[in-house]
Amino acid sequence: MLPTKFGAVMPPKLSDLPQIQSLLAQQAVQNVAERYSRAETAQTLRQMIAELRAGIMAGTTADLPDFESAGFAERLTEMIETYRRPSLMPVINATGIIIHTNLGRARLAPKAITAMSGVAAAPSNLELDLDTGKRGSRHEHVENLICELTGAQAAVVVNNCAAAVLLGLLATASGRNVIASRGELIEIGGSYRLPDVIAQSGATLREVGTTNKTRASDYAQEIDGETAVLLKSHTSNFKIVGFTASPTRQELAKLAAAHGVILMEDLGSGVLVDLAPFGLTDEPVVADIIQAGVDLVMFSGDKLLGGPQAGIIAGRRDLVAQLKSHPLMRAVRTDKLSLAALEATLRLYRAPSDPLREIPVLQMLAQPLEEVQRRAHRLIASLHGSGIPDAVVVETIAHVGAGAVPAQELQSCAVSICVDGLSADGLSAALRQNDPPVIGRIAQDRVLLDMRTVTDEEVARVASACARCADR
Ligand SMILES: *Cc1c(COP(=O)(O)O)cnc(C)c1O
Repeated sequence: MLPTKFGAVMPPKLSDLPQIQSLLAQQAVQNVAERYSRAETAQTLRQMIAELRAGIMAGTTADLPDFESAGFAERLTEMIETYRRPSLMPVINATGIIIHTNLGRARLAPKAITAMSGVAAAPSNLELDLDTGKRGSRHEHVENLICELTGAQAAVVVNNCAAAVLLGLLATASGRNVIASRGELIEIGGSYRLPDVIAQSGATLREVGTTNKTRASDYAQEIDGETAVLLKSHTSNFKIVGFTASPTRQELAKLAAAHGVILMEDLGSGVLVDLAPFGLTDEPVVADIIQAGVDLVMFSGDKLLGGPQAGIIAGRRDLVAQLKSHPLMRAVRTDKLSLAALEATLRLYRAPSDPLREIPVLQMLAQPLEEVQRRAHRLIASLHGSGIPDAVVVETIAHVGAGAVPAQELQSCAVSICVDGLSADGLSAALRQNDPPVIGRIAQDRVLLDMRTVTDEEVARVASACARCADR
């Protein structure tokens, strides 16, 4: 960079940028090309020059690197390494949110992973009936299990819960009316808004009741010859407290049956076992919902169920048959990997398996606070041993996440860390850049690593990630 005679600095020009060929001819760059490959090196150089060119044109590049320095070859190496890293990769969830949608929701049980890799690596009987040798149905692999675990007459699995609700409404209510309470017209994660899903199904939404109180009589008044479905929905990510009212499922079921309409429930995070002993009293068990007379219930596979992404639809045989034969079914059907993982996960709910021990989501939810604390103290000891003295255990509140039981809090604890010379933002960013990335949260200018969502096996990796960050 050349100072002008006035002392100001001349910004770099496009003509100052070197040719790729001349860069490739340099010894330091040739060494990089030998270590990786010439093609990869040339591609990365083109990328670097393109970025510099864009910076010059936008006036944001104040300075060009010294293309002949060792630092330049190092930067080139770093970029090649970065491009070689996969984009989607495992991370360590130290957020305290057990089912974190941004972090891929449920971690699968080892048995589910084994089942998944089995059918990934070899052909399978996905649509072959091994008894008759004839074409089978992919739906059959899990239908009986779902029926057994929920008491439903029939079941079918699609890509996710959003698809399940859309398919359910399309197949039963298109061109007709869907009645829903004003207190249950939810939006989840921005892209799922119940009124929009109803509109996309070709049905017309008839809102009844008020935000806080809706009664069975409100539904009853709205039912007419155009009504196809009474839709109940889990309010997932919010809770209305104070003076509230909503009809029981039994009341709605009676009403629906009396008028020959369908009672459907968008449950979101379905649970198959009662989680009340762990303080989660707001999550109805699917079997109770079926028992109460709901005709079709939809829930996710990768929320509290603890399985792969899937949308499970359980309920009346005639309605499930209608869904199975709907033209949209093919577009939203689930793939063999998810089916294998789902079947294996569902089997963990059957005796003699104990789902609370074998399904990671439930195990994390159910683990006693002392276990979480023990893990925190192990991490602290390790951090103190590797030159991070400012690390203490703090009490925290963990959450189930993914819209399930928003108001219910799990007692937890975190390791609160401060590293010399790094801000909380800086440390948090460095931990995200680690291999594997460690995702925590920031509170009062310190990084908190919640131990409820970290496994025992991950503690050592969290410790070395912190040590690496402190070393930089
Ligand atoms: C999460 C949720 C959905 C969407 O489920 P996906 O499996 O993510 O498609 C739908 N409805 C409710 C009530 C939910 O909580």
